Amino acid sequence: MTHERGQSMRELLARGDKSFSFEFFPPKDELGEQQLWQAITDLEPYGPTFVSVTYGAGGTTRDRTVAITGRIARETGMLPVAHLTCVGHTTDEITAILDDLARAGVEHVMALRGDPPGGPGTPWTPTEGGLTYANELVALIRERTDMRIGVAAFPEGHVDAKDLDHDARVLRAKYDAGAEFAVTDMVLRASDYVGLVDRAHAVGADLPIIPGIMPILNLRSMQRMVDFSRRELPQETVERLAPYADDPARLREEGIAIATELCEALLDAGAPGLHFYTLNRSKATREIFANLQITV
Ligand code: FAD
Repeated sequence: MTHERGQSMRELLARGDKSFSFEFFPPKDELGEQQLWQAITDLEPYGPTFVSVTYGAGGTTRDRTVAITGRIARETGMLPVAHLTCVGHTTDEITAILDDLARAGVEHVMALRGDPPGGPGTPWTPTEGGLTYANELVALIRERTDMRIGVAAFPEGHVDAKDLDHDARVLRAKYDAGAEFAVTDMVLRASDYVGLVDRAHAVGADLPIIPGIMPILNLRSMQRMVDFSRRELPQETVERLAPYADDPARLREEGIAIATELCEALLDAGAPGLHFYTLNRSKATREIFANLQITV
């Protein structure tokens, strides 16, 4: 799917083609910077619908997120989406960041609350003069800019959601505030994604929901990530990977196979596209694309 600047994500997704997108994070040093731009260069030929750049936990990467998305807008043909969180910012600071993004040529923002400084599931305290929930950030962006807005959704519900129905209503509030599309946290089972879409539609959150894909390349680091967000790897996934516990190459192969099957199941279930958490590397995404017979 190709895009034209100024076209909304909703319009792009409504055309019916599948959307493919890649997520990157701002690196810490020069070596990381080289790795990031190598991954961007490797993945650009696939013509992603958009590429997104995260905003560091605790609001730590303000300048780098603006710089990287700005450079993507200037130097590549890809549509950058800048993540922005409420953590540690007053509304005046948020407005200043939105101005910086607009000056850098960035027209799409992922509006997020951000995790509390203690990590997911720890108490959230809003900053004085700041915002409490992502729907307020969506409303602020809508009020002060004409940027296009994406939001987060959670296949198994957000860790702090009262229940799954409330979780869907939170997505509805973000939609009502002006969000055009949602991207999910990494999907561990296709059925979780289908459940989320059903709940969202039931409460009138009528926005395209793109599932997030994170292939398992190393069991221990995936386990850490899943624990961090207080979820559990599905038993069937653990059982498929267990025989390769001492064989990193075979484990990686099986991880790619599992991710490929997940992508196929999600597309078969009607997902409007796939969003890849690349961790600033392109190899695993290219392998999954080859398996899905998506070529440059
Ligand atoms: P919200 O929608 O505000 O929800 C937060 C919690 O508050 C939920 O438990 C919700 O149920 C509850 N809630 C929301 N509204 C209300 C209300 N009106 N009344 C009562 N309760 C309410 N984090 C980063 O720091 N940087 C990133 O770049 C980043 N990118 C992400 C990208 C994606 C695709 C995803 C899925 C997550 C990302 N995150 C990022 C993590 C995200 O910031 C956290 O998961 C955060 O805890 C929730 O963010 P949210 O935008 O969904 O918040």
